[in-house]
Amino acid sequence: MTDLPEILPPTDAGIARASSLLARGKLVAMPTETVYGLAADARNPQAVARIFAAKGRPAHNPLIVHLASIDAARALADLPAQAEILACAFWPGPLTLVAPLRAAHGLAPAVSAGLPTVALRLPAHPIARALLAAFGGPVAAPSANPSGRISPTTSAHVVAGLGAQVAAILDGGACAVGLESTIIGFDGPRAVLLREGGISREALEAALGALLSNDTNGKVTAPGQLAAHYAPRAQVRLNVTQPAPEEVWIGFGPDCPGAALTLSPTGDLAEAATRLFAVLHQADAMGRPIAVAPVPVQGLGAAINDRLKRAAAARE
Ligand code: AMP
Ligand code: MG
Repeated sequence: MTDLPEILPPTDAGIARASSLLARGKLVAMPTETVYGLAADARNPQAVARIFAAKGRPAHNPLIVHLASIDAARALADLPAQAEILACAFWPGPLTLVAPLRAAHGLAPAVSAGLPTVALRLPAHPIARALLAAFGGPVAAPSANPSGRISPTTSAHVVAGLGAQVAAILDGGACAVGLESTIIGFDGPRAVLLREGGISREALEAALGALLSNDTNGKVTAPGQLAAHYAPRAQVRLNVTQPAPEEVWIGFGPDCPGAALTLSPTGDLAEAATRLFAVLHQADAMGRPIAVAPVPVQGLGAAINDRLKRAAAARE
C-alpha cells in the first residue's frame, strides 16, 4: 500500500490508465472546469460506495453524474423542455440539471441517494471530456475533498485532502471556473435554482427568456446543501473593511490596502471565482482568523457570496 496516489499526465496514455482504473472500480480524481472531481463508475455500487467512504460524505447527499454527451443524459433521465433549452445553451459547462430517472437507468442506487431524480452534467474541461469519452459510461464525481472542507482546485489540494484514498489523479493544473456547478431542478416543467454556481442566474434567465424560480414550494430540494460547508479550519468574518491586526485579510478590488491576499486586485468577479478556494486554502494555512472584504452579489458574485457564507457559518 503506497501513501500517495499515482499522478497521471493528461496524455493519451494517462487517460487510458485513468479509464482502466475506473473500469476496475477504482477512484480517480479528474480536473473539471469547476473543481477537481472524485470520479467512479456510476453503475458500480462498490465503486460508488468508495466515494462516500473516501469523502466521509453522508449517504443522503446524492452525487452528480458526469457524461460525455447530451444523448447519454437523455438516456438516463426525462429532460423537461426547459432542461433541453438549458442543456443546449450551457453544456458542456458548469451547469447541473436534476431530472426524473428513466426506468432501467443502470446507475447504482446510492448515486441518487435513492431519489427518483438524478443530477447530470457535461463538463467542459478537455481532460474530463477525454476521460469520459475513453471510459464510455456515466461517472459519478463529487468534489475531490473530504466532506465539508474547502473544494480542491489543484491536484496538490487533492493529495493533501484525500491522499492514497484516490488511486490516481489526472493532473490538469488549476481549474478555470473554480466554483462548483449551478444546480437547476424542476417542479414539473418549471426550472428552479437549487444552488448558485459557475453559471449566473442572469445568464440562465437570458437563455430561458423567463425568470428563474427559487421558490421550491417544498417540492424540489437539493439535499446536502448544508449551511456550514466549504469550511476552512479558521474562523471566517465577511464584509470586512477594517480587519483586526491578527486577521488574515482577503481583499477584493483595489481598495484593500494591506490585504495579505486578494480574490481579484481589479475587482473582477470571474477572477475572484477562479481564485476563491485556492485563496481560502492559503489563508487557512496561515493559522490565523480570516476576514474577507465585501464582494458584490450580482452575476458570479452570488455564488461567491454563497460559498463565503458557508465558509463563515458557525459549525460544531
Ligand atoms: P456536489 O456536492 O458539488 O457534488 O453536488 C452534489 C449536489 O447536487 C448535492 O449535494 C445535491 O444538493 C445536488 N443533487 C444531486 N442529486 C440530486 C437530486 N437527485 N435531487 C436534488 N439535488 C440533487
Ligand atoms: Mg463538494
